[in-house]
Amino acid sequence: MSAVDPSLIERIIRDDVRAMGAYHVADSHGLVKLDAMENPYRLPPELRAQLAARLGEVALNRYPVPSSEALRAKLKTVMNVPAGMDVLLGNGSDEIISMLSLAAARPGAKVMAPVPGFVMYAMSAQFAGLEFVGVPLRPDFTLDRAAMLAAMAEHKPAIIYLAYPNNPTGNLFDADDMAAIVRAAQGEVCQSLVVVDEAYQPFAQESWMPRLTEFGNLLVMRTVSKLGLAGIRLGYVAGAPEWLSQLDKVRPPYNVNVLTEATALFALEHVAVLDDQAAKLRAERSKLVEAMAGMPGVTVFPSAANFVLVRVPNAAQIFDRLLARKVLIKNVSKMHTLLANCLRVTVSTPEENAQFLEAFKASLQD
Ligand SMILES: *Cc1c(COP(=O)(O)O)cnc(C)c1O
Repeated sequence: MSAVDPSLIERIIRDDVRAMGAYHVADSHGLVKLDAMENPYRLPPELRAQLAARLGEVALNRYPVPSSEALRAKLKTVMNVPAGMDVLLGNGSDEIISMLSLAAARPGAKVMAPVPGFVMYAMSAQFAGLEFVGVPLRPDFTLDRAAMLAAMAEHKPAIIYLAYPNNPTGNLFDADDMAAIVRAAQGEVCQSLVVVDEAYQPFAQESWMPRLTEFGNLLVMRTVSKLGLAGIRLGYVAGAPEWLSQLDKVRPPYNVNVLTEATALFALEHVAVLDDQAAKLRAERSKLVEAMAGMPGVTVFPSAANFVLVRVPNAAQIFDRLLARKVLIKNVSKMHTLLANCLRVTVSTPEENAQFLEAFKASLQD
């Protein structure tokens, strides 16, 4: 076997890519896993059996139908996509973010989002050679409308992402602030496409979907990941066909595989089951927030998502102590200065939440 020449790697692989760390996924073996906003509930056994039968019939020898017509039609109905609007599918919404970056990657083009925010906006921009501009939220994580408008005027971003609710802070931005940004991006301040990322919509029950008809520069992006189907990798973006037909050109033609398509169709036929799970998690979120808010030294931030952000006296220490108690959460305190000493915990079943609360209380007292 011949050795790989390091200078060849240097010559071929971009400097910024070589300098990066790989996307880190923590090893969760044997732990209560509350780090990744997964729905803890699976489909009930009878539905699993029906799904297995359905998947058994799928023609694995054939390429997917690139338009995924049936699934797109089902999504439009179930998710109340306004008449005249279309949906485009991605291998998770992560892939939709990549498509947006690729399609907008003119030399010098920029992507903007409030920070702290979802890391993929910045990563995907960088991969595609776009500059990412992060605009700090206020210390209470509300949207800084004036700062956003000023940054928009200065940088003229091609794309602006607004996560609704935001990750990792969990809050819903003020809808009037958002509308002011979308409007200002229609030419008055800059000309930008605004993508409202509603990954946590099942837990927020607030949506910009109905407002697609109001703004010609708006797209609404969603995913089934947080709804209980993280494993199948399916995201979608809704908006005017004029936008989506352009994005469709950079979409890998078979990006949604036949098993994902069949599973998603099946799950959407039984969406009431997933909606019930989301309702349970919303109720559990309230209990979790209430329990943590009563703990000395802990600040709990309001959440419209299936996770809760808390500030503790020493995030790294509490994270390690929780891990020692076999509970894995996410230490987000190094992501941004505004997140100093912040931890993010995913809302789970009553049993796992109780396990977490017990371990959290003990970790604060050690
Ligand atoms: C989890 C998450 C996504 C990614 O969803 P996938 O469909 O699993 O790729 C997108 N946006 C936000 C804000 C998220 O938290």
